[in-house]
Amino acid sequence: MSPVPSDLEVSRAQTPKPISQLAQEIGILPEELEAHGNTKAKVHLSLLNRLQHQPDGKYVLVAGITPTPLGEGKSTVTVGLTQALSAHLKLNSFACLRQPSQGPTFGVKGGAAGGGYAQVIPMEEFNLHLTGDIHAIIAANNLVAAAIDARIFHEATQSDKGLFSRLVPSVNGVRCFSPIQLTRLQHLGINKSDPGELTPQEVSTFVRLDLDPEKVTWQRVSPLPTQFDIAVASEIMAILALTDGLADMRSRLGRMVVGSSRTGKPITADDLGVTGALAVLMKDAVKPTLMQTLEGTPVFVHAGPFANIAHGNSSVLADKLALKLVGEDGYVVTEAGFGADIGMEKFFNIKCRTSGLRPNVVVLVATVRALKMHGGGPNVTAGAPLPKEYIDENLQLVKDGCSNLKKQIQIAHLFGVPVVVALNVFKTDSEAEIDLVCRIAEASGASAAVPCHHWSRGGRGSVELAHAVKEVASQGSHFQFLYNLQVILSGCLLVSCFVSNCQQEPIIEKIRTIAQKVYGADDIELSTEAQTKMEYFNQQGFSGLPICMAKTHLSLSHMPEKKGAPSGFILPIRDIRASIGAGFIYPLVGTMSTMPGLPTRPCFYDIDLDPVTEEIKGLF
Ligand code: ADP
Repeated sequence: MSPVPSDLEVSRAQTPKPISQLAQEIGILPEELEAHGNTKAKVHLSLLNRLQHQPDGKYVLVAGITPTPLGEGKSTVTVGLTQALSAHLKLNSFACLRQPSQGPTFGVKGGAAGGGYAQVIPMEEFNLHLTGDIHAIIAANNLVAAAIDARIFHEATQSDKGLFSRLVPSVNGVRCFSPIQLTRLQHLGINKSDPGELTPQEVSTFVRLDLDPEKVTWQRVSPLPTQFDIAVASEIMAILALTDGLADMRSRLGRMVVGSSRTGKPITADDLGVTGALAVLMKDAVKPTLMQTLEGTPVFVHAGPFANIAHGNSSVLADKLALKLVGEDGYVVTEAGFGADIGMEKFFNIKCRTSGLRPNVVVLVATVRALKMHGGGPNVTAGAPLPKEYIDENLQLVKDGCSNLKKQIQIAHLFGVPVVVALNVFKTDSEAEIDLVCRIAEASGASAAVPCHHWSRGGRGSVELAHAVKEVASQGSHFQFLYNLQVILSGCLLVSCFVSNCQQEPIIEKIRTIAQKVYGADDIELSTEAQTKMEYFNQQGFSGLPICMAKTHLSLSHMPEKKGAPSGFILPIRDIRASIGAGFIYPLVGTMSTMPGLPTRPCFYDIDLDPVTEEIKGLF
């Protein structure tokens, strides 16, 4: 329809096919499906075993130029491309998207199901509770916080009764139990006399952890960005996104460091004895949720870490399942959040390192309007009319703004992966502007650059993009990581040693490599706090982990107002944290906060429910 109705109206106008029918069409057996109503279903991980000998399909990553308030449309492109591949090129394809938290939905952005005629339906389901995964993460996170509080309290108040005391060294130096500990063990039904035989859970029921209240690093989380960490930046969310199954998720949850003891020893969730309970809370969340696009093609929605303050990619499990389901000739299109400098860099250096999967092609999304802002176009205010620069043709602004597009293409090439630029066309774009972007993109090394009209026309508006992706994906890529986790000496890669950091690539070098090669910084500068933390992580043997930079998404640099491709800056590292269970070191750049606030006029003002029809209003 022209004009295109609102995202919510488009979504409502289409009746989704029953989810069991979609599952059957794509080869999921009834016993592998757990329906939640008629339009969404959890998919069992046993499917991975059943299809283990099936070759994977082609793996396509959608990334973008540096975001502006004018929007780029990565989710819309992801959905439009799979609609084109499936419904128009008749190739199996799957979209893998992140689940939005209440932060975006009730804050600034609105939904994240795509938009126009390229979206996941029903969009209300997608954007609200879905199948409860984020609620499970919040519950698990709060259980760790409660376990910490309870432990500190009980160790302080029960010590006079001999509970939570240290194991007593015997005369020959071997650790053994005190009489009161033995009694407590018997009372708990644990008949062991050698401390070495105890499981972590058993140890934690009575051995003093001596958690230092001043050094608790665990943060409470909330679906809303208030005074805690937002749930999508939590370590449990990162674990959900990076795990490859229940057993691995359980051991990652157990490795999470929640603080340190008075003697400086890291204390983990295993030490608290809470790991099993966390696994119970997360057992359903680990299964990806199946939904569909407007054109009835399959979508997995799973995990939702932000790309600026977390690693920004949907789950490894969803991608792996989808790659098996589409088969050798099919395509899985997965999305990395925000600009390629953060979402895509973390996709390669963190997610691909964990999953072992290698992408065939990067689709880099750009819009004429956003490029104009990178070229020096004026700022826009929410709700105010668009300045004329974004409505009238202005080739100079477009040309200048392509510095950002060019830099993001170069970043993808650092990893050896070919790029197709998808120019998401808005109705204000002129033919000359569209041509100019495509020409500059190809001159900057993109294998192809094509205008896309999926937002106004659905899958058929992205057929040209689908052909380009198919062509480039078949040419092969030469994937490589940007940095190694181990130091390479005389051409020989030393084996990783988790406990001793002697052979690991230093944390500071990995941060410097990202800052210089990806962001374009001259160098980095660590605050005293960051330096101290880095030395602590080195001592603890955590330095061999990949890096997850927490940096503004609004600029390639740490300064949100610097558009285009800034150069000549020193990147300030304010603090460094570690997510040991998720498996990364987490530097905070500049003033970046893990508690983004709501704007003065959040979009929840517009959201309401008709009590008679139960219709939701105001989602977009
Ligand atoms: P991103 O994934 O980059 O954050 P989305 O795909 O979620 O962006 O799109 C953000 C918003 O912009 C959605 O509401 C969508 O409907 C709208 N949008 C995307 N592409 C277009 C377009 N070509 N014309 C008009 N609106 C668009």
